Amino acid sequence: MANSKYEYVREFETDDKLLRNVYILVRIDGKGFHKFSAAHEFTKPNDIRALNLMNHAARSVMHELDDILIAFGESDEFSFLFRKSTDLYQRREAKIVSTVVSLFTSAYVYYWSDYFQDSKRPLYPPVFDGRAVLYPSEVEVKDYFAWRQADTHINNLFNTSFWALVEKGGLTPKAAEVRLSGTDSKDKNEMLFTEFNTNYSKLPAIFRKGSVLLRGSIPKDMAKDAIIPTLPETLPGSTYADAAPSTEPSAQSDGPATATEPEVTQRDSGGDNKRQYRGDDDDNDDDELDSDGAEAKEDDNKGSRKLGDGVDEKRPALKRIKKGVVIEHIDIIGEKFWTGAGAYILAPEKKKKLKTKK
Ligand SMILES: [Mg+2]
Repeated sequence: MANSKYEYVREFETDDKLLRNVYILVRIDGKGFHKFSAAHEFTKPNDIRALNLMNHAARSVMHELDDILIAFGESDEFSFLFRKSTDLYQRREAKIVSTVVSLFTSAYVYYWSDYFQDSKRPLYPPVFDGRAVLYPSEVEVKDYFAWRQADTHINNLFNTSFWALVEKGGLTPKAAEVRLSGTDSKDKNEMLFTEFNTNYSKLPAIFRKGSVLLRGSIPKDMAKDAIIPTLPETLPGSTYADAAPSTEPSAQSDGPATATEPEVTQRDSGGDNKRQYRGDDDDNDDDELDSDGAEAKEDDNKGSRKLGDGVDEKRPALKRIKKGVVIEHIDIIGEKFWTGAGAYILAPEKKKKLKTKK
């Protein structure tokens, strides 16, 4: 069949294939989410519904795209790491990025009413942008995720302090900003503890550490698109004690604990408005699961699971386990994660032949 005379326009398309044999990282980010979170009355400093919805959307992306090894989310952003050898869309950048962004966004809207149960849909369509970044080695991959988790910590500590001053302390936003100017992590922890009876380290891990989506074993009866329960760490059977919100209004006598927080220090300067409002809708969480219909096999390790910190956590005995997407709120800064729960992510891959387009 003869080509039409118009077909030459195809030649204007540019080749955007990403370099082979390097990690592809796609990060999506909400556009105008300060406005979006205000319009939908997200709670400050974190809205668990919004975070769970973000996680659900990210889980949908991982179900669809098998070559994603890990995802990390905080606030209105999510990062997806593809295996080095992926040949998804022959590594064409626009196809990969647009597919991730499109699927994430449609899932966000599709599952909206499961999390915001008093509304059928958002008041207007949310927008996410996306970009792909190439990382040549394991070093950059680890540092990338450490960077995002450190960002989670910095933003959440700031936002928690800021909103405590505004909502409980009665300060104006401007005054709260001035008050936090020049403070470091220690100062903010101390302030939260002494003035607001808040032990920062006892706040839910999803707020402090973001959400890590991993390929892992999940109970056989877990539905693929199960709705992520609010703060699952508070559900019966959960061993995520440290992630449970403190029900005690008064602080304990041991003072604010910061030992488990990543080593991140940052001074807030007076004029930094941007950070103040970032993260109005943080990320979300859970150690929840899902399955993508992969094999169902007996796991002789039933009842326990290796977590990133290398601690064997007791789990309810599960008869059948299958691979799915597991959502954790654990430290990914430091080697422990990469040799523990995340060890599969950077494991050497078999060389795969890339398909070449004829
Ligand atoms: Mg944003």
